[in-house]
Amino acid sequence: MKKRSVRTLLAMALAVFSLRAGAAGLRDGERSYQGTVDRLREAGLAGERGFDLLRRITSVGPRLTGSPQAAAAIELATSLMKELGLSGVHTEPVEVGRWVRGDIAEAAIIASGTRAAIPLSVCALGGSTGTPERGITAPVVDVRSLDELASLGTVLKGKIVFFNRPMDRRLADPFAAYGGAADQRVGGASAAAGHGARAVLVRSLTFREDRNPHTGLMQYDPRAPRIPAAAISTADAEVLSALIKKEKSVSVSLRMNCRDMGRVISANVVGEITGSELPGEIILLGGHLDSWDLGHGAHDDAAGCAAALEALRLIKDLGLRPRRTIRAVLFMDEEFGGTGGRAYAIAPQRKGERHLVAAESDRGGFVPVGLAIGGRDRRILERVSAYENLFRPLGVSFIVPGGGGVDVAPLIKQGAVPAAVITNSQAYFDVHHSALDVLSSVHPRELELQAVILAALAYILAQEGT
Ligand SMILES: [Zn+2]
Repeated sequence: MKKRSVRTLLAMALAVFSLRAGAAGLRDGERSYQGTVDRLREAGLAGERGFDLLRRITSVGPRLTGSPQAAAAIELATSLMKELGLSGVHTEPVEVGRWVRGDIAEAAIIASGTRAAIPLSVCALGGSTGTPERGITAPVVDVRSLDELASLGTVLKGKIVFFNRPMDRRLADPFAAYGGAADQRVGGASAAAGHGARAVLVRSLTFREDRNPHTGLMQYDPRAPRIPAAAISTADAEVLSALIKKEKSVSVSLRMNCRDMGRVISANVVGEITGSELPGEIILLGGHLDSWDLGHGAHDDAAGCAAALEALRLIKDLGLRPRRTIRAVLFMDEEFGGTGGRAYAIAPQRKGERHLVAAESDRGGFVPVGLAIGGRDRRILERVSAYENLFRPLGVSFIVPGGGGVDVAPLIKQGAVPAAVITNSQAYFDVHHSALDVLSSVHPRELELQAVILAALAYILAQEGT
């Protein structure tokens, strides 16, 4: 053996040391949770328990707020929570609006000259009034924005306004593209009615070109007459738009028998693992139990409910005893007014409780890519980022400020820290609010991974606080 200088030996020792640090690569805090996160991952990914919860929730069918199926989903969710052995399982009443789609949603481009009539694939927007029984037939005006609508003014009298602005494909974030086009769906009918229009057709909010109409909430301004509002599929929006360019005047007939049914009592469903030391401090994992009614609301948002429940199941089955309470809340009425989130925040049961974190999963059951936490509060972001090496192997490649959602917004206003698992949602709007949002559109492993991440995050936060 060759003699080595002290310097060489020192260099070698340093190299070995840094190699070790690199291999482990964990901070002290991370090291203390590594075993737990490994066990959560192994238990979560070994089977399809989260997906099975999703299967059972979607088996109820569409869960439109105030509907008999929504009531059935509340009953099912209650028994699922009991089956999982959660504590304090109960429902909390929520007064919600009820609207029914009816069984007629027909539209067609009226025949002209030698051209035959062309049927259009449409659906009522949620909350829309129906048409008169014989329908509405009127010339159509293609409009791209509420500003353009305002500039047209009296031209719109007696017409059907066709809001045809697509989601902006150039944006990387599909939610930003959706947000940028949703104003026509939500407020288009009242804006058009203010100019004397008789009905509106709104281009479905999706990147995909197909014949599936996508529903979603529309709201009436009490100052304008209530006119019917329908979503038209993107493929048919293209057909209609091309024909309007080609022919001088294009008329469309629209017939729908959707209607408002007043107010009914529904409920949020709550269950938890009660904290062993600080039970009044709560880490909330939420999703919304209601859905739109064209599909089964698998991604939106049975997946969020299933992920929250599975996260609690994992923590419980591993025998972990969180210091603070980890609670699953399955909210009612996210889609049709957000009354569930508001009712939860002010329910009498909240007395003496303090919600440290309110995480909402409502971005589809897709593969997780990141974590959003803390909104504008950078301190909690830094605290959670101290565990990033535990989350990275689970697919979390970034931790950014953000989180929040319709259901948890009232809690965040009260001081809870928002949090959310960010998924790769490029395909989300293909299915969102349409007949395509069914169980088969969710990949089991992607959902299980989301549940594991939620479980790890909730457990660490329950131990460490904020
Ligand atoms: Zn949703």
